[in-house]
Amino acid sequence: MAIFEADFMKLYEQYPVFLTNSLSGEKEKLETLTPGFVGMYVCGPTVYNYVHLGNARTFLSFDIIARYLRFLGYKVRYVRNITDVGHLESDADEGEDKIGKKARLEQLEPMEIVKRYTEDFHTVMRQFNILPPSIEPSATGHIIEQINITKKLLESGLAYEVNGSVYFDVKKYNQSHHYGILSGRNIEELMESGRNLDSQDEKRDKVDFALWKKASPQHIMRWPSPWGEGFPGWHIECTVMSTKYLGETFDIHGGGMDLKFPHHECEIAQATGANGKVPVRYWIHGNMLTVNGQKMSKSLGNSFLPSELFSGNHPLLEKGYSPMTVRFFMLQSHYSSTLDFSNEALNAAEKGFKKLNNALSSVKKMTLTKDAANIELEKNLLDQVTRCFVNMSDDFNTAKTLAVLFEMATQINTWAAAKEIALTENVFDQFKSTYIAMMEDVLGLKEETGGNHELLNGTIQVLINLRKKVRADKNFVLSDKIRDDLKAIGIQLKDGKDGEMGYEIE
Ligand SMILES: [Zn+2]
Repeated sequence: MAIFEADFMKLYEQYPVFLTNSLSGEKEKLETLTPGFVGMYVCGPTVYNYVHLGNARTFLSFDIIARYLRFLGYKVRYVRNITDVGHLESDADEGEDKIGKKARLEQLEPMEIVKRYTEDFHTVMRQFNILPPSIEPSATGHIIEQINITKKLLESGLAYEVNGSVYFDVKKYNQSHHYGILSGRNIEELMESGRNLDSQDEKRDKVDFALWKKASPQHIMRWPSPWGEGFPGWHIECTVMSTKYLGETFDIHGGGMDLKFPHHECEIAQATGANGKVPVRYWIHGNMLTVNGQKMSKSLGNSFLPSELFSGNHPLLEKGYSPMTVRFFMLQSHYSSTLDFSNEALNAAEKGFKKLNNALSSVKKMTLTKDAANIELEKNLLDQVTRCFVNMSDDFNTAKTLAVLFEMATQINTWAAAKEIALTENVFDQFKSTYIAMMEDVLGLKEETGGNHELLNGTIQVLINLRKKVRADKNFVLSDKIRDDLKAIGIQLKDGKDGEMGYEIE
């Protein structure tokens, strides 16, 4: 079967997408609200710290989804927000605002914190070749809308005000809807479980959550509202920004698994309560990263930043890995499975990516040497082309698609060795364009030109050793010059334990 079968048929009709909807737990056919268009919202980062790898994996998963849907011919409006207010330290509306706390500790304006970490986030996204969303709205840019929806919920009786704060009345909502529908919980369980909190005094029930919180005198981030000075709850921003840009009902809502409850559950309740419509048709959740089988966490000392992974400057890493190697590594597992980081797995990924990458550069230069039919081979090649699409349309299965690309890479290497390609031209063109498009457009695996990373690493090591030598000779002028010149081009040397020296690329 020819891949681009008929000109009038869109690829998304030829290869309809099936995705696992977290709401039903089933694999469902994607039927978009408006034919040919997809509206997708993904919860973005809370910009109070450097983005960690687990987050990067989530955004990579949705990058693949947006890229593939676009490749199939959908027009995709992809909204991914920036949380710059309202995310408190605890999910139960308690503790300090994460950004406010960082601002207090570092004696900076909250917006200085937001700027610094938003820029870091964007840098990391670019390094991983994760494309920007169509719209990237921020919570502080939508305070008025958050106040308005809170008013609406108060008017409809689904929210109540206590002492300058407004809470969502979960029990009341649950009388006519199912609170817990996404995470498979029910209100009775929720009422029984969970801690009793001090701040719960204000809430009618511990299951209720804040739409608006009164600001204490020390709280830095605050806005005037009908209920006095305060700030929005964490969940309300996503309801406001998703429905503002995608409509009261939209196609896909995504985020990390950890956001399913309470964050996404609260979003469903707020939007359904305010607009009388179920907001989201398909929910997609990405799974988490583990390191050597353990959950990645700061307290276990096994969490590392993308920059540390690229430079190899971390006790758990044997060496650095290029961003495309890491991207390839993450795509080897399905977005809904956990993914385990280990040096072994990364080394294997480095080899694997090299093979695909080499085939990519050689196929780009290849031309047909002879236009001649070869029925058996052509059947195989077209089958490989078809399977790339079938696998991607089957819940965005990047792992299976990569397996097909390896088969195709073997074929490319055979041609490269034989220096002869005898095929029907149309088949060769389909094969070549599919390999290139799957690698670059769909999987976002940019061509890396041979060994630059290792070369750079080696070069910096030479400079570090040279600097050690001149310091031992007490030539501090030259030693400072090496450090400053490297800093000027974005490479920062870092003094480590026992006189060892590492570096970071800014
Ligand atoms: Zn969100």
